[in-house]
Amino acid sequence: MSGDILQRLSALTLSIKHLGSYPRFLDLSSIPSPGPTVAASQVPSLFREPYILSGYRPVQQDWRCYLLSLFQRHNESLNVWTHLLAGPVLLLRWWANVDALGYTLDAASLPLTIFLGSSLIYLFFSVAAHLMQSHSERAHYFFFFIDYVGVASYQYGCSLGHYFYASEPSWRESYIGLLFLPGAALFGWLSCAGCCFAKARYRRPYPLQRKICQLIPTSLAYLLDISPIVHRLFTVSWTQEPSLPFHALQIISFLLSALFFSCPIPERFFPGHCDFVGQGHQIFHLFLSLCTLFQLEALFQDYASRRNTVVEVFGERQLWWACVSFPALFLCCILTAFVTLRHMTKQLQGKQEK
Ligand SMILES: [Zn+2]
Repeated sequence: MSGDILQRLSALTLSIKHLGSYPRFLDLSSIPSPGPTVAASQVPSLFREPYILSGYRPVQQDWRCYLLSLFQRHNESLNVWTHLLAGPVLLLRWWANVDALGYTLDAASLPLTIFLGSSLIYLFFSVAAHLMQSHSERAHYFFFFIDYVGVASYQYGCSLGHYFYASEPSWRESYIGLLFLPGAALFGWLSCAGCCFAKARYRRPYPLQRKICQLIPTSLAYLLDISPIVHRLFTVSWTQEPSLPFHALQIISFLLSALFFSCPIPERFFPGHCDFVGQGHQIFHLFLSLCTLFQLEALFQDYASRRNTVVEVFGERQLWWACVSFPALFLCCILTAFVTLRHMTKQLQGKQEK
């Protein structure tokens, strides 16, 4: 008996000793500090951004260095912080609206809840991508593929909100209205697949085809997703519906974000002067965050005025089906990202062996 206890005690002591040698992550003295930033010429071409000449984090540092680079001044800092701060602001506005307009988790509120979830997903994936991508070429591809998954999920989350809370009966009876939900899911997946394909296929300096592969599916997805809103803005009096000015603002913010996403302005006119502050991508993040905030305000207003009729109009079954389709789309996009990543990993291994 005592031998048994002794055996157990020595096993426990061994396990504790073992534990002590492992958690290097918890040992503060072993945490590495991020290396100083370097010039564009000192990182592989994959990481170089046009007209951004300095502020790059060196590749192949410890993963924790990239995590800690959250507090370092580098050319991705503001790309990370713009979306990192947008998350809490969005949650604060969510709670303010819950207090002011009311909210109950049921079939009628499912699309609104999914919209919030999809917004937080795209913000989190974007933060992860801009923070961690500099580790290696494989990490760069992995995190940006995941970023595209976030964008596709967000697009579909928005379309569910637009369809169930903001569409007019006459629009829902049109061909676009009838094909809207499957179309939005298909275009959401196509925009993820198009962006992954373009990223994997083309190398810097990027040809025009890369932009076409990215912009055509994402633009088609946006045109479809926003169609119920555009129809409503043109057919309903703005004074009757408090959500309409917010819907107009979400469209303006999105169009401005798309402009700064597509063109490297203002850094194109001031090469090397926007390395830390003022890059077009940072302005794109700001306008996209604003667009999400205006969407939240608009959709909450619409939810508050239509929540009593949503189940009656669409039926509980359609609401549940539409919402089950969200995780299904998310999984399809994750799968597409991983298939493309596997292809890229093979290519990178082939390149190293040469
Ligand atoms: Zn970004």
